[in-house]
Amino acid sequence: MNLSSLSIAATLTAVLAVFVLRHSSSVSPSDQSHQHGTFVPIAADVFRLSYSWHIPWLGVWAPVHVLLASFGKDYVLFDAGAPGREYADFLLPRLETALGDGQLRLIALTHGHSDHVGALEALVQKYPDVQVVFHQDEAPYITGQFPYDSLPSDHDKFNVTMFDIDVSSALSEERVLHVRGSSRDVADAFRPSGCASDVGWLPPRGALHFHHAPGHAPGLVAYLHKGSGSAIVGDIVHQLGDPPVVDTSHFGFTSKLTQSTLSAKALAALDFDVAFPVHDSAAGVTKRALQDWAQQA
Ligand SMILES: [Zn+2]
Repeated sequence: MNLSSLSIAATLTAVLAVFVLRHSSSVSPSDQSHQHGTFVPIAADVFRLSYSWHIPWLGVWAPVHVLLASFGKDYVLFDAGAPGREYADFLLPRLETALGDGQLRLIALTHGHSDHVGALEALVQKYPDVQVVFHQDEAPYITGQFPYDSLPSDHDKFNVTMFDIDVSSALSEERVLHVRGSSRDVADAFRPSGCASDVGWLPPRGALHFHHAPGHAPGLVAYLHKGSGSAIVGDIVHQLGDPPVVDTSHFGFTSKLTQSTLSAKALAALDFDVAFPVHDSAAGVTKRALQDWAQQA
């Protein structure tokens, strides 16, 4: 690690340490009681599993949430949690319980950073028929064609080498579905080959939309769950600290800061009631709170 990397790592450590210290009442390395035991309802037909992720290269903890939406007996999982066998072992049995006699049909990824695809390989091994959907612009990075730190950046503190993990074994072409463009119904997702005829189960038309919000990652998307008014927003914004504070993701993790802020502001104008970030020390961000943040950002 060179001096520049050390400096960036030290900065990130300090920032994340502030996150952790500011919500230390709910997150502590020596107290695992914050690891909630199950997916809990957080909106109509939407469930959330919460745990804390120990970030090994920084030595700190951060909250991570995995969301699950039901469409009758068919389920969509949003993101796949933190990297590491222990997090997959935490997620998979709880997902099995939450699914009951329902079926996991889709894993909808907001983007491909390691703390969003951590259990992807374990999930597709357990659910061999599941399809994985993500934005076409994220494909080169999720599939490992290019590392995230090869992305052009609009500032000199971008360093996300830690966000690359190899999940290519989970992403065979017959399993992958892409969404593309700026905003559309997920029911229009398509195979990377362009073939539409062999696409498997998709949510009912009108039930789940995606919204492209690049900046933090090139293919970052929010998913709008229309039935509940939920926006599942990945890392477009986070809400951390005690009291929780809304903001965009940290500069060290975000290649294009200006675009990221514009995308988060655009998110605030969409049709939803509550946004659910992956890194959230509260129970989501109301649209009003996001609009208040957008006005001063
Ligand atoms: Zn991210």
